[in-house]
This record gives sequence, C-alpha cells and structure tokens, in this order.
Amino acid sequence: MESGLYIVATPIGHLDDITLRALRILEHVDLLAAEDTRHTRKLLQYHGIERSVTAYHEHSSTASMLAKIQTTCAAGGSCALVSDAGTPLISDPGYELVRAAQDAGIRVIPVPGPSATIAAISAAGLPSDRFLFAGFGPAKESARRAWLAGYAFESATLVLYEAPHRILAMLTDAVAVYGGAREACICRELTKTFETIKRGTLADLVEFVAHDSNQQRGEFVVLIRGTDETQADFGQGEQELLVQIAEYAPPKIAAAMVADYLGLKKKPMYEWLLERKNSVD
Ligand code: SAM
Repeated sequence: MESGLYIVATPIGHLDDITLRALRILEHVDLLAAEDTRHTRKLLQYHGIERSVTAYHEHSSTASMLAKIQTTCAAGGSCALVSDAGTPLISDPGYELVRAAQDAGIRVIPVPGPSATIAAISAAGLPSDRFLFAGFGPAKESARRAWLAGYAFESATLVLYEAPHRILAMLTDAVAVYGGAREACICRELTKTFETIKRGTLADLVEFVAHDSNQQRGEFVVLIRGTDETQADFGQGEQELLVQIAEYAPPKIAAAMVADYLGLKKKPMYEWLLERKNSVD
C-alpha cells in the first residue's frame, strides 16, 4: 500500500455499505485511527477484520496523532482515519489532522463512500443540481432562528443535520423563518430498519413529526428547498429586509431595490409592503 493518510468513509447504518477498497485499506494500514474504537471494532468484526485501532476524537491531541502518523509514514507505512459513520470531516473530526498531515508533507488520500448528506440528496426528490451543506445548527431557539435566517435568500437546496430531540423545534423554527409553504424533506434513519423519507411543505412536516413520536427518534437529515427565483411568495428574511429598506425609501423603490438585489419579482413585494402599511396605519 502506498504510504500516506487514507480518509476512509464507512457505513451510515447498513454495515454492508462499505467499498471493497475501504475494507482492504482498513485491514492493511499500519495505523488505524477511529473516532470511537469500540464502534469501529464492531464494523471490522462484521467484516471479519481483526486488528488494533487507535482513538482519535474531537478531544484528542492532533499533534500527538500527527507524530504517530509521521513516524509510521517515515518508515514507509500507511495510516487511515475513520469516523463513527459516513465520511470523516463531514460534521466529524479530522479537519485539523488532514491539514497538519498535508503541511508535514504526508500524502492525504480520500477513500470515498457513504455520507448521510449524499444519501439524503439522492433520495429526497428536491433539486439536487445545487445544494448547500450547513451541518448542525445552534441548539437554542433564538440562535437557531437567526442561523436559519442567514440562509433565507439561498436558492440552493439546504442540507441540515439535526438531533432527534430538536427535530420538531427545528422544523417549527424553519416554518417561522421560511414560511410553512416552503417544500422540504426529512430523511430519517437512512439505510436502517426504520428508514423514513418524507417530503412535503414545512407545515406538513411539522404536523407529521408532531403527531408521531416515532418520527422524533433516530438520526435525521433535513433538506429545505431554496428560494425559487421565479416564485411569487417570499419568506420572513426577505420581509425583514423589505421592512428595513422601506424605512428609508417609498414602497415602490424599496420593493424594486430588494427584488433587483435578490433576483425576485418586484410586484409581490410591492403589494406586500402596501398591505403591511395599510394594516399598520
Ligand atoms: N460524517 C457523517 C456523514 O458523512 O454524514 C455525519 C456525522 S454527524 C456526527 C452525525 C449526523 O449525521 C446525525 O446526527 C444525522 O444528522 C446525520 N446522519 C448520520 N447517519 C444518518 C442516517 N443513517 N440517517 C439520517 N441521518 C444520518
């Protein structure tokens, strides 16, 4: 095997979802670093591989792991990094180690395979030509709403990870920020027994999750369709911007400025501003 640091993707649920190349590398590298050694040993055992595994997680010292990798590679050996699930570095540790290894002149070799993001985008039925991976949002409601609002004008499909105990709160916040009519998809327990892929409006999804506690268990990827440049309606983020600009300019100008800037239609914005003005007056 060529000397270097292999970044190896492992299953996100179904243990058969691993490439032949990944198995060969996991079996033969001189040093295997894993986020959770017990978890990785189960995967190895399932595939009949018996070997030593070294821990490297978010609290590990990158310097000492790098030193081990350098010693191994200096002797012509090879190393691999795996996380608990999917592709390392995708909401998983490894970024500092990859950079440090490259800076130390060690070849970093990707061994592609599963990732919950790619599995979800492939099966969600939402536009897949452009997507934006945003990972995990903040845990607190106000911070999460502000974080979601930061993507209010995004036209690519948004891909988020969320913990089961926050899935309902996160979807509720998404309704508040983007409006209940925005299309979205929840991908739960991908490749596992209780795999659920449910597409609908954000309002539908809140109802779906709220009325079935089973839908608040397991692992989740949430996909939210981006703003459609040709769509007539617009979300809370656009509305907030309109209100701010309308403080300094008449409704017609404010609507034209925001619409031009965002590539959206002027008329619905103008009408919304007039309606708002009438209801405030
Ligand atoms: N590195 C992984 C990847 O490539 O997708 C992601 C690791 S991150 C710590 C774990 C999160 O990924 C979970 O909380 C969940 O949001 C998502 N995830 C992982 N496996 C999943 C699965 N089987 N189904 C749905 N989401 C999953």
